[in-house]
Amino acid sequence: MTEALLHVCRTCSRYTLAEVCPSCGGPTRSPHPPRYSPEDRWGKYRRALLARAALEGAAP
Ligand SMILES: [Zn+2]
Repeated sequence: MTEALLHVCRTCSRYTLAEVCPSCGGPTRSPHPPRYSPEDRWGKYRRALLARAALEGAAP
């Protein structure tokens, strides 16, 4: 998972690959909450649109 490689500082919001911020020494976290998956969320709509387009054919 590429998310596990990138972290963001809780304090200064600096992006880093380390688990400790190189700027302020504060703890870092994953920039994306693990339970939130925007790709899947929008993929649901995208696939729905593609399926609908396939059924209806090319839009005018
Ligand atoms: Zn920091």
